[in-house]
Amino acid sequence: MDVKVLSNSDGQLKFVAKDADPTFMNAIRRIIMAEVAIPAIEKVYIAENTSVLYDDIIAHRLGLIPLKGGEILTLTEKCDCDKKGCPKCESILTLEVEAAEDNFLVYSGRMKAEGSVFPANNNIPIAEMNAGQKLTLEAHARLGLGKNHAKWQPVSACAVKYEPIIEIDSKKCDLCGACIEECPKKILKEKDNAIVVTSLWDCTLCKLCEEACPPAAIKISYDDRNSVLIVETTGSLTNDELVLAACDVMLQKCEELKSSIKSLPEAF
Ligand SMILES: [Zn+2]
Repeated sequence: MDVKVLSNSDGQLKFVAKDADPTFMNAIRRIIMAEVAIPAIEKVYIAENTSVLYDDIIAHRLGLIPLKGGEILTLTEKCDCDKKGCPKCESILTLEVEAAEDNFLVYSGRMKAEGSVFPANNNIPIAEMNAGQKLTLEAHARLGLGKNHAKWQPVSACAVKYEPIIEIDSKKCDLCGACIEECPKKILKEKDNAIVVTSLWDCTLCKLCEEACPPAAIKISYDDRNSVLIVETTGSLTNDELVLAACDVMLQKCEELKSSIKSLPEAF
């Protein structure tokens, strides 16, 4: 497998894997979305809330704040506390605020980390309060998996796209320009009396150019042995860490399968 990074900026990683089985790439995508453990707030104990928002709305908002850290935590399901929650599997964050003025916005950055877990972004609004209103709470964060709740999904987007194949028959093409006009990504242009592709990986395989071409000179298909993986983190882990963590999870699954097969009776 040949891997080449196309871009890695603004929270998005895009890399091409050549000669990679499509099922393998999809397995990595699914593991990133559903089986890489990250922290999220699971329990909220509200001591005082005189804001206009109900306790459960605030708890729901807190649950969706992406959190960083928690590498030392274990999954509560695998902890010896019988799923009750303990310092080994939980990390505490607190929030104590009294609005000094009207229209006072409380952001995630005001949460104080008592343990190893803290907000990945300090600018996420939690509540808007008026002068004198108070909010005091304690939140318990746990590690979890995206397959159990979306708040533990470490990515806002994660997709696999196959390599587009754009074939242009120069004998049939009359340079009418309809395909250039129709392409939503604007990746076709005329150069030296021929239609050329400027950015192949930006093609979304929509086939609008194919439909717009009267002499049927353009044909769109794809090669599923070459694909691009697009990862957009929510901030809990970096995109690179996410891909590596997904590979570790897959290796662990293979190890479990291997040891299970080895432990089968010989007659099998
Ligand atoms: Zn525990």
